[in-house]
Amino acid sequence: FDDRDGTIWMDGTLVDWREAKVHVLTHGLHYASSVFEGERCYNGTIFKGHEHSQRLIRSAELIDMELPYTAEEIDAAKDDMLKANGWTDAYVRAVAFRGSGQDMGVSAARNPVRLVVAGWQWGNYYGDAKMKGAKLDISKWKRPSPETIPSQAKAAGLYMICTMSKHAAEAKGCSDAMMFDYRGYVAEATGANIFFVKDGEVHTPTADCFLNGLTRQTVLQMLHERGVTVHERHIMPEELEGFEQCWLTGTAAEVTPVGQIGDYSFEVGQMTRDIAEAYEKLVRS
Ligand code: PMP
Repeated sequence: FDDRDGTIWMDGTLVDWREAKVHVLTHGLHYASSVFEGERCYNGTIFKGHEHSQRLIRSAELIDMELPYTAEEIDAAKDDMLKANGWTDAYVRAVAFRGSGQDMGVSAARNPVRLVVAGWQWGNYYGDAKMKGAKLDISKWKRPSPETIPSQAKAAGLYMICTMSKHAAEAKGCSDAMMFDYRGYVAEATGANIFFVKDGEVHTPTADCFLNGLTRQTVLQMLHERGVTVHERHIMPEELEGFEQCWLTGTAAEVTPVGQIGDYSFEVGQMTRDIAEAYEKLVRS
């Protein structure tokens, strides 16, 4: 990924893709003092771009890091990066982290906080699962308690178990893994939130120990506008058997139907298709 043409925004300047480097003694690399955003630009506009900038600042605060940029400055950095690359449609990745400083250890209060904004072309996150329904494994790793880690932050440290879960899933021929939380309730996938349908009503886990995704919030609003009854609640593993439809939401995943989770099967039904199409239309409007 590091050897390609393009321009990356780094700490206020546009640099050549191949020159966008950091030192090996970067604090974020050793101690996960890093937060990031995943966004999508459609037809020249980043969907909820400003909300993503605000979330980046909030995530940084949650891991005790003060970003030296306002949300408006982050918006401008993303625009500059997109313009420099000539992209109107792209996935956008902002990452803020503690760099290398005078100290190297757990404490990093004196290390500079850096910001990088890159982008690339990212098609369907789950490939052709978008049409057929993704196949999910069930992860052995549990989303941790909010007393263990600031779970509302989009922070690098929270993704260690996601990568491990996704690798295990891929080894079994699945596209992703569904994770339970520390209490045993259904939580989310490794980079996307989850929704279920039963008897025309929607059920989705309460976002009390995982990221309350911007796509999740958008889809909840869409369901509300359609008059669909939504239950945001704790969902037990044994309930999976009774759900008829399932989909995932996320910036990269958009709205992706799920066909299977472990031994449980779901149909790619009308409500799933409606919501996926409506989301597609909304982000491009
Ligand atoms: N959960 C996790 C763990 C994620 O990485 C993401 C992607 N950012 C989401 C949920 C969905 O968030 P959003 O809809 O804001 O992209």
